[in-house]
Amino acid sequence: MTPAQAEVDAQQAALRARTVGVLGGGQLGRMFVHAAQRMGWRVLVLDPDAAGPAAQAADRVLRAAYDDGAALAELARHCTAVTTEFENVPADSLQALAQHLRVAPAAQAVRICQHRAREKAHFVASGVPCAPYAVIESEADLAAVPEALLPGVLKTSQLGYDGKGQCRVADRAELARAWRQSLGAAPSVLEALLPIRCELSVIVARGADGALVHLPVQQNLHREGILAVTQVPAPDIDTATAEHAAALAQRLAESMGYVGVLCVEFFVLRDGRVLANEMAPRPHNSGHASLDACELSQFELQLRTLLGLPLSPPRQHSAAVMLNLLGDLWFDAADPQAVPREPEWARVLELPGAHLHLYGKAEPRRGRKMGHLTVTAATAAAARDTALQAARRLGLPAF
Ligand code: ADP
Ligand code: MG
Repeated sequence: MTPAQAEVDAQQAALRARTVGVLGGGQLGRMFVHAAQRMGWRVLVLDPDAAGPAAQAADRVLRAAYDDGAALAELARHCTAVTTEFENVPADSLQALAQHLRVAPAAQAVRICQHRAREKAHFVASGVPCAPYAVIESEADLAAVPEALLPGVLKTSQLGYDGKGQCRVADRAELARAWRQSLGAAPSVLEALLPIRCELSVIVARGADGALVHLPVQQNLHREGILAVTQVPAPDIDTATAEHAAALAQRLAESMGYVGVLCVEFFVLRDGRVLANEMAPRPHNSGHASLDACELSQFELQLRTLLGLPLSPPRQHSAAVMLNLLGDLWFDAADPQAVPREPEWARVLELPGAHLHLYGKAEPRRGRKMGHLTVTAATAAAARDTALQAARRLGLPAF
């Protein structure tokens, strides 16, 4: 090897040692890129769409499918560690990458989280209560569904999100129709319809050395299946319930040998029971307030777990309320034909403690997550009060 070649190789190795990769190009990837760059890392994003939210912020973009062997090899050549920002990344790609470099979360954990039936089996195996359910993968399974699960919620096992791929069913006839027609007889899970008092989520971060920390327990309000409002601290539960939910989330991370950031959603029933709903092997929309309200954000936790950096407990320093900003805000309710226009952000930015996050998506669409607004304050009452004012100014319903 010539001295010149040796120098080029040394430069490449130094660059690789400072570069991390992300599979996926959405807003979660974008906020991970920001957190990593702030600590001096270069970020390479693999995304089939080279103009998405994460790609806009990345140091480099590989435009290719998530299972493209050449792109994965390129990623392995240029990165020291790789993470994912979306749940439906092919687990095989994570497994292949793990032959060459550090990957978190691991393929085996992602395989569990991306499949509702496997996820529920993991809850049961870990001793974490969840809704009574039945797996429906055949006509025989359909016929064998116990009466106690009706009325229920039928959910496709794979690729459901934001309430998509699920139907409420009142009786057997509706169940059969929903499974065969709405879900195309795809492998599914039927859950009993639960009497929910409120919904929570807990974001835990676990290092390769087994260190575990979690963000404060979040309370979530969904509208039409999509997260609308997150409040931290959670206003409608007591300390014991919050601690219980956090302990269950940590148990689930531990029992998967999980490394990375994991979000667990819970239902609190009217009788006070806490049931696990679903898990996401990545940062989560309900954890966005951590960017402005906690000492460590969920994205910095993702970076630290990925690189084996220390995890310290992320204290919440401000009360916070997060409002999701969906594309609907760009459309005039009174005149649906009108050209979409940007909301008047100045009207909310004049409120104290308002932090606006926009994801750089060019085209607003109804139901599309365009950004979020977090309001921080010294007390939960003040954060809620200001967030209600912000909601009113944006034309969002009260909560
Ligand atoms: P997604 O992947 O779309 O987030 P979820 O399983 O979390 O799917 O369901 C979305 C929302 O639907 C929940 O946050 C909750 O409000 C409601 N929901 C889901 N399952 C049930 C259930 N078994 N009983 C009552 N409401 C439910
Ligand atoms: Mg959910």
